[in-house]
Amino acid sequence: MTAKIGRPSDDPKIHHLLVRLSEEDRQKLEYCARVTGQSRAEIIREGLDNIYKQIRESNVLDFVLIKTCEYCKKQFQIGSPNDAKLFVEHVERCKKRKQ
Ligand SMILES: [Zn+2]
Repeated sequence: MTAKIGRPSDDPKIHHLLVRLSEEDRQKLEYCARVTGQSRAEIIREGLDNIYKQIRESNVLDFVLIKTCEYCKKQFQIGSPNDAKLFVEHVERCKKRKQ
């Protein structure tokens, strides 16, 4: 039996994601893994982390989407999944009211 590679984690990686890659993507991933000595999964997670940090460190307003309720024309700033949820709930309420 081989020793377990990697640290025990208090943030266990319980989710699986199937990602479709082009041949070029695959070659880039293999290259990054070979050069850095990291696993392909680590490369993907690090890429995610980098993009997440870029978003958080940049002007958040760049990433806010303005959505308008088609029923009452009220505008909503969508900057998080919760904002999106509130917007959808609002539109549903407006839709029912107009029926
Ligand atoms: Zn509305």
